Amino acid sequence: TGASKGIGAAIARTLAAHGAAVAVNYSSSREAAEKVVAGITAAGGKAFAVGGDVTKKADIEAIFAKSKEVLGRLDILVNNAGIYAPTPIGAITEEAFHRHFNLNVLGVLLASQEAVKYFSTEGGVIVNVSSVVAAFCPPGLSVYNATKGAVDSITRTFARELAGRNIRVNSVNPGLIATEGTHAAGFAKPNTEESSALGLIGEPAAIADIVAFLASPDSRWINGQVHYATGDLL
Ligand code: NAP
Repeated sequence: TGASKGIGAAIARTLAAHGAAVAVNYSSSREAAEKVVAGITAAGGKAFAVGGDVTKKADIEAIFAKSKEVLGRLDILVNNAGIYAPTPIGAITEEAFHRHFNLNVLGVLLASQEAVKYFSTEGGVIVNVSSVVAAFCPPGLSVYNATKGAVDSITRTFARELAGRNIRVNSVNPGLIATEGTHAAGFAKPNTEESSALGLIGEPAAIADIVAFLASPDSRWINGQVHYATGDLL
């Protein structure tokens, strides 16, 4: 989900490079999603773009139905789409709460619910893109931090709930990564003195490699785990 930009786009490219046929989901950035698909196709991979807002159950149902139609089967779900906006205590609103929780939490719950219907009897894999903020809890981001705490609880719960069906569920929890979203928010300023003097701002591809591992049989003995990926100590 949310593969038109940033970490999601890198995950789509990396999974395709490993031989997966990929559904590149976007909600509004169709052109960007088509570019990701074109890049994958040019490199000899298989992908297609599928629009849909993962806060909405009807859209999620349509995304999965279309993906099954085009790709034939479903083995891996990466719940990546997410938003983050500052909400210092005085600026917390119902609107900000629902906007964050509808995408970052409800979207993960509903997309996972739908994926499980499509996984074969052999099982499947769900990887949730959480965040280091779930543990680090930076000030001014209480609403966002809470959504990622919830994602980690969902990861652990579904891992136990779905283990009998051979479905593994894990989280990867990045630190700061340079993406369209973090640029727009003013969080990441690569190639400036402020940026990665300490090597703390990562590239999306570094997270994509971890997702590819968690989606592959090489990680078959890892389930219900939360993996911090910060390039440094937490
Ligand atoms: P980004 O650059 O802002 O990209 C967000 C992606 O999500 C876009 O492809 C966007 O597609 C999609 N999206 C937004 N709303 C959607 C919706 N309702 N339905 C479907 N897709 C939707 O974000 P990012 O920085 O790559 O972050 C991706 C994930 O990593 C998020 O879950 C974020 O919390 C997590 N994360 C990021 C960082 C970081 O430093 N970047 C660190 C830790 C965790 P459209 O443009 O088409 O809407």
